[in-house]
Amino acid sequence: MIDVESVSKTFSGRAGTVTALHDVSLQVAEGEFVAVVGPSGCGKSTLLRLVAGLIEPDSGRIRIAGESAVDARNDKLLGFAPQSPALLPWATVRANARLLTRVNSKMAASRVASPAEIDELLTRVGLEDFSDALPHELSGGMRQRVGLVRTFALHAPVLLMDEPFAALDEFVRTEMRYLLLDLWERNRASVVFVTHSLSEAVSLADRIIVMGAQPGRIEYVHTVSLARPRRLEQEDELAFLSELRAVRRLLSMKDRAVDSGRMRGVR
Ligand code: ADP
Repeated sequence: MIDVESVSKTFSGRAGTVTALHDVSLQVAEGEFVAVVGPSGCGKSTLLRLVAGLIEPDSGRIRIAGESAVDARNDKLLGFAPQSPALLPWATVRANARLLTRVNSKMAASRVASPAEIDELLTRVGLEDFSDALPHELSGGMRQRVGLVRTFALHAPVLLMDEPFAALDEFVRTEMRYLLLDLWERNRASVVFVTHSLSEAVSLADRIIVMGAQPGRIEYVHTVSLARPRRLEQEDELAFLSELRAVRRLLSMKDRAVDSGRMRGVR
Protein backbone atom coordinates (compact mmCIF):
# COMPACT_ATOMS: atom_id res chain seq x y z
CA MET A 1 0.00 0.00 0.00
CA ILE A 2 2.90 2.32 0.86
CA ASP A 3 6.12 1.96 -1.06
CA VAL A 4 9.05 4.19 -0.11
CA GLU A 5 11.98 3.45 -2.39
CA SER A 6 15.52 4.73 -1.70
CA VAL A 7 14.33 8.12 -0.52
CA SER A 8 16.78 10.83 0.53
CA LYS A 9 16.01 14.30 1.80
CA THR A 10 18.35 17.11 2.90
CA PHE A 11 17.48 20.47 4.38
CA SER A 12 19.68 23.53 4.12
CA GLY A 13 19.44 26.12 6.83
CA ARG A 14 21.59 28.60 8.71
CA ALA A 15 23.23 25.75 10.61
CA GLY A 16 24.31 24.14 7.32
CA THR A 17 22.96 21.12 5.50
CA VAL A 18 21.20 18.31 7.35
CA THR A 19 20.61 14.92 5.76
CA ALA A 20 17.21 14.26 7.32
CA LEU A 21 16.87 10.94 5.47
CA HIS A 22 19.45 8.91 3.59
CA ASP A 23 18.44 6.09 1.25
CA VAL A 24 15.34 5.04 3.18
CA SER A 25 13.20 2.21 1.82
CA LEU A 26 10.04 0.94 3.47
CA GLN A 27 7.03 -1.03 2.32
CA VAL A 28 3.81 -1.13 4.32
CA ALA A 29 1.29 -3.78 3.30
CA GLU A 30 -2.47 -3.33 3.13
CA GLY A 31 -3.82 -3.47 6.67
CA GLU A 32 -0.37 -3.45 8.26
CA PHE A 33 0.42 -1.36 11.35
CA VAL A 34 3.99 -0.04 11.37
CA ALA A 35 5.50 1.96 14.23
CA VAL A 36 8.57 4.16 13.75
CA VAL A 37 10.88 4.81 16.71
CA GLY A 38 14.26 6.52 17.08
CA PRO A 39 15.96 9.50 18.71
CA SER A 40 14.89 13.09 18.04
CA GLY A 41 16.14 14.36 14.72
CA CYS A 42 16.41 10.93 13.02
CA GLY A 43 13.89 11.94 10.36
CA LYS A 44 10.66 10.35 11.63
CA SER A 45 8.52 13.42 10.92
CA THR A 46 10.28 14.01 7.63
CA LEU A 47 9.43 10.45 6.56
CA LEU A 48 5.80 10.99 7.53
CA ARG A 49 5.61 14.35 5.72
CA LEU A 50 7.09 12.77 2.59
CA VAL A 51 4.52 9.97 2.63
CA ALA A 52 1.82 12.57 3.26
CA GLY A 53 2.89 14.38 0.07
CA LEU A 54 3.62 17.56 2.05
CA ILE A 55 7.26 17.66 0.96
CA GLU A 56 9.13 16.17 -2.01
CA PRO A 57 12.14 13.83 -1.75
CA ASP A 58 15.46 14.92 -3.30
CA SER A 59 15.82 11.44 -4.73
CA GLY A 60 13.94 8.16 -4.61
CA ARG A 61 10.26 7.49 -5.10
CA ILE A 62 7.10 7.20 -3.00
CA ARG A 63 3.96 5.38 -4.20
CA ILE A 64 0.73 5.02 -2.29
CA ALA A 65 -1.71 2.50 -3.73
CA GLY A 66 0.21 2.99 -6.98
CA GLU A 67 -0.15 6.79 -6.94
CA SER A 68 2.28 9.57 -6.09
CA ALA A 69 1.99 10.88 -2.52
CA VAL A 70 0.52 14.18 -3.75
CA ASP A 71 -2.13 12.38 -5.85
CA ALA A 72 -2.92 10.08 -2.92
CA ARG A 73 -3.44 13.12 -0.71
CA ASN A 74 -5.67 14.78 -3.29
CA ASP A 75 -7.65 11.56 -3.71
CA LYS A 76 -8.18 11.42 0.08
CA LEU A 77 -6.38 8.12 0.47
CA LEU A 78 -4.52 9.56 3.48
CA GLY A 79 -5.75 10.25 6.98
CA PHE A 80 -3.52 12.24 9.30
CA ALA A 81 -3.49 12.32 13.12
CA PRO A 82 -1.27 15.04 14.59
CA GLN A 83 -0.09 15.48 18.20
CA SER A 84 -2.95 17.77 19.02
CA PRO A 85 -6.05 17.73 16.85
CA ALA A 86 -6.98 21.22 15.66
CA LEU A 87 -10.58 21.36 16.88
CA LEU A 88 -12.72 24.36 16.02
CA PRO A 89 -13.28 26.06 19.39
CA TRP A 90 -16.79 27.28 18.57
CA ALA A 91 -18.04 23.97 17.15
CA THR A 92 -19.49 21.09 19.16
CA VAL A 93 -17.78 17.71 19.53
CA ARG A 94 -20.20 16.24 16.98
CA ALA A 95 -19.57 19.03 14.47
CA ASN A 96 -15.82 18.74 14.93
CA ALA A 97 -15.99 14.97 14.45
CA ARG A 98 -17.94 15.45 11.21
CA LEU A 99 -15.74 18.25 9.94
CA LEU A 100 -13.52 16.35 7.50
CA THR A 101 -16.33 14.24 6.08
CA ARG A 102 -18.15 17.49 5.25
CA VAL A 103 -15.11 19.18 3.78
CA ASN A 104 -14.49 16.07 1.70
CA SER A 105 -18.08 15.36 0.83
CA LYS A 106 -17.64 16.03 -2.89
CA MET A 107 -14.47 14.01 -3.24
CA ALA A 108 -15.41 10.89 -1.40
CA ALA A 109 -19.06 11.04 -0.38
CA SER A 110 -19.52 7.32 -0.91
CA ARG A 111 -16.60 6.37 1.28
CA VAL A 112 -16.66 8.59 4.37
CA ALA A 113 -18.66 7.76 7.50
CA SER A 114 -22.30 8.84 7.63
CA PRO A 115 -23.48 11.14 10.46
CA ALA A 116 -25.03 8.09 12.16
CA GLU A 117 -21.76 6.19 11.98
CA ILE A 118 -19.89 9.16 13.43
CA ASP A 119 -22.33 9.22 16.35
CA GLU A 120 -21.64 5.52 16.81
CA LEU A 121 -17.87 6.16 16.77
CA LEU A 122 -18.31 8.89 19.40
CA THR A 123 -20.16 6.36 21.56
CA ARG A 124 -17.43 3.82 20.94
CA VAL A 125 -14.81 6.19 22.37
CA GLY A 126 -17.03 7.12 25.32
CA LEU A 127 -18.04 10.61 24.19
CA GLU A 128 -21.78 10.02 23.68
CA ASP A 129 -22.66 12.40 26.53
CA PHE A 130 -20.34 15.08 25.20
CA SER A 131 -21.57 15.31 21.59
CA ASP A 132 -22.94 18.81 22.20
CA ALA A 133 -20.03 19.99 24.35
CA LEU A 134 -17.45 22.50 23.13
CA PRO A 135 -13.72 21.62 22.95
CA HIS A 136 -12.81 23.82 25.95
CA GLU A 137 -15.09 21.66 28.11
CA LEU A 138 -13.02 18.54 27.34
CA SER A 139 -9.85 17.08 28.84
CA GLY A 140 -6.79 16.56 26.62
CA GLY A 141 -7.59 12.85 26.29
CA MET A 142 -11.17 13.61 25.25
CA ARG A 143 -10.01 16.10 22.63
CA GLN A 144 -7.64 13.51 21.25
CA ARG A 145 -10.54 11.02 21.07
CA VAL A 146 -12.55 13.53 19.00
CA GLY A 147 -9.49 13.83 16.76
CA LEU A 148 -9.34 10.04 16.37
CA VAL A 149 -13.02 9.80 15.46
CA ARG A 150 -12.54 12.59 12.92
CA THR A 151 -9.55 10.80 11.38
CA PHE A 152 -11.27 7.39 11.29
CA ALA A 153 -14.48 8.87 9.87
CA LEU A 154 -12.63 9.40 6.58
CA HIS A 155 -12.17 5.64 6.10
CA ALA A 156 -8.84 6.45 4.50
CA PRO A 157 -6.89 3.31 3.53
CA VAL A 158 -3.67 4.90 4.85
CA LEU A 159 -3.29 6.56 8.27
CA LEU A 160 -0.26 8.63 9.19
CA MET A 161 0.09 9.34 12.89
CA ASP A 162 2.76 11.63 14.35
CA GLU A 163 2.98 10.95 18.09
CA PRO A 164 -0.75 11.47 18.51
CA PHE A 165 -0.65 10.63 22.24
CA ALA A 166 2.56 12.45 23.20
CA ALA A 167 0.76 15.26 25.05
CA LEU A 168 -1.32 12.90 27.22
CA ASP A 169 -0.47 11.57 30.66
CA GLU A 170 0.68 7.96 30.92
CA PHE A 171 -2.63 6.52 32.13
CA VAL A 172 -4.77 8.14 29.42
CA ARG A 173 -2.09 7.41 26.87
CA THR A 174 -2.24 3.68 27.57
CA GLU A 175 -6.02 3.74 27.34
CA MET A 176 -5.84 5.53 23.99
CA ARG A 177 -3.75 2.74 22.44
CA TYR A 178 -6.55 0.26 22.84
CA LEU A 179 -9.20 2.72 21.67
CA LEU A 180 -7.09 3.32 18.59
CA LEU A 181 -6.73 -0.44 18.00
CA ASP A 182 -10.47 -0.93 18.49
CA LEU A 183 -11.23 1.68 15.79
CA TRP A 184 -8.48 0.34 13.53
CA GLU A 185 -9.72 -3.28 13.74
CA ARG A 186 -12.96 -2.24 12.00
CA ASN A 187 -11.32 -1.39 8.67
CA ARG A 188 -7.62 -2.09 9.14
CA ALA A 189 -6.01 0.79 7.29
CA SER A 190 -2.26 0.71 6.64
CA VAL A 191 -0.76 2.76 9.45
CA VAL A 192 2.57 4.52 9.96
CA PHE A 193 2.71 5.55 13.60
CA VAL A 194 5.61 7.66 14.92
CA THR A 195 6.24 7.38 18.65
CA HIS A 196 8.88 7.83 21.34
CA SER A 197 7.24 5.17 23.49
CA LEU A 198 8.54 1.64 22.97
CA SER A 199 5.63 0.05 24.83
CA GLU A 200 3.26 1.98 22.59
CA ALA A 201 5.12 0.68 19.53
CA VAL A 202 5.04 -2.94 20.78
CA SER A 203 1.37 -2.84 21.77
CA LEU A 204 0.22 -1.34 18.47
CA ALA A 205 2.46 -2.51 15.67
CA ASP A 206 3.02 -5.51 13.43
CA ARG A 207 6.50 -4.19 12.66
CA ILE A 208 8.70 -1.62 14.37
CA ILE A 209 11.13 0.45 12.34
CA VAL A 210 14.14 1.57 14.41
CA MET A 211 15.74 4.67 12.93
CA GLY A 212 19.12 6.31 13.55
CA ALA A 213 20.21 9.91 13.09
CA GLN A 214 22.88 11.82 11.16
CA PRO A 215 22.04 10.88 8.57
CA GLY A 216 18.46 9.78 9.26
CA ARG A 217 18.17 6.14 8.21
CA ILE A 218 16.49 2.83 8.99
CA GLU A 219 18.73 0.76 11.29
CA TYR A 220 16.59 -2.24 12.16
CA VAL A 221 13.18 -3.68 11.48
CA HIS A 222 11.59 -5.74 14.25
CA THR A 223 8.53 -7.93 13.71
CA VAL A 224 6.20 -8.05 16.71
CA SER A 225 4.81 -11.53 17.17
CA LEU A 226 1.88 -10.84 19.48
CA ALA A 227 -1.60 -12.08 18.59
CA ARG A 228 -4.41 -9.68 17.68
CA PRO A 229 -6.68 -8.26 18.85
CA ARG A 230 -4.29 -6.90 21.46
CA ARG A 231 -5.46 -6.30 25.03
CA LEU A 232 -4.17 -4.10 27.83
CA GLU A 233 -3.68 -7.16 30.07
CA GLN A 234 -1.14 -8.50 27.56
CA GLU A 235 1.27 -5.74 28.61
CA ASP A 236 1.98 -7.63 31.86
CA GLU A 237 2.68 -10.90 30.07
CA LEU A 238 6.11 -12.33 29.40
CA ALA A 239 5.66 -12.30 25.63
CA PHE A 240 5.03 -8.54 25.67
CA LEU A 241 7.95 -7.84 27.98
CA SER A 242 10.34 -9.86 25.86
CA GLU A 243 9.23 -7.96 22.72
CA LEU A 244 9.86 -4.74 24.61
CA ARG A 245 13.30 -5.92 25.67
CA ALA A 246 14.17 -6.89 22.09
CA VAL A 247 13.28 -3.44 20.74
CA ARG A 248 15.09 -1.69 23.58
CA ARG A 249 18.17 -3.76 22.77
CA LEU A 250 17.98 -2.76 19.10
CA LEU A 251 17.82 0.91 20.10
CA SER A 252 20.82 0.62 22.39
CA MET A 253 22.78 -1.32 19.74
CA LYS A 254 22.10 1.56 17.42
CA ASP A 255 23.36 4.05 20.05
CA ARG A 256 26.54 2.06 20.50
CA ALA A 257 27.05 1.99 16.73
CA VAL A 258 26.66 5.80 16.62
CA ASP A 259 29.09 6.22 19.51
CA SER A 260 31.74 4.01 17.94
CA GLY A 261 31.26 5.92 14.67
CA ARG A 262 31.88 9.16 16.54
CA MET A 263 34.95 7.66 18.22
CA ARG A 264 36.32 6.72 14.83
CA GLY A 265 35.57 10.23 13.63
CA VAL A 266 37.58 11.71 16.49
CA ARG A 267 40.57 9.56 15.71
P1 ADP B 1 12.32 13.59 14.13
O1 ADP B 1 10.88 13.66 13.74
O2 ADP B 1 12.87 12.20 14.12
O3 ADP B 1 12.63 14.30 15.41
P2 ADP B 1 12.70 15.37 11.87
O4 ADP B 1 12.21 14.62 10.69
O5 ADP B 1 11.80 16.39 12.47
O6 ADP B 1 13.16 14.33 13.00
O7 ADP B 1 14.06 16.09 11.49
C1 ADP B 1 15.19 15.41 10.94
C2 ADP B 1 16.32 16.42 10.75
O8 ADP B 1 15.97 17.32 9.71
C3 ADP B 1 16.58 17.28 11.98
O9 ADP B 1 17.97 17.50 12.07
C4 ADP B 1 15.83 18.54 11.69
O10 ADP B 1 16.45 19.65 12.34
C5 ADP B 1 15.94 18.65 10.18
N1 ADP B 1 14.77 19.33 9.58
C6 ADP B 1 13.52 18.85 9.53
N2 ADP B 1 12.70 19.70 8.87
C7 ADP B 1 13.47 20.76 8.51
C8 ADP B 1 13.23 21.98 7.79
N3 ADP B 1 12.01 22.26 7.30
N4 ADP B 1 14.27 22.82 7.62
C9 ADP B 1 15.50 22.52 8.07
N5 ADP B 1 15.80 21.39 8.74
C10 ADP B 1 14.81 20.52 8.96
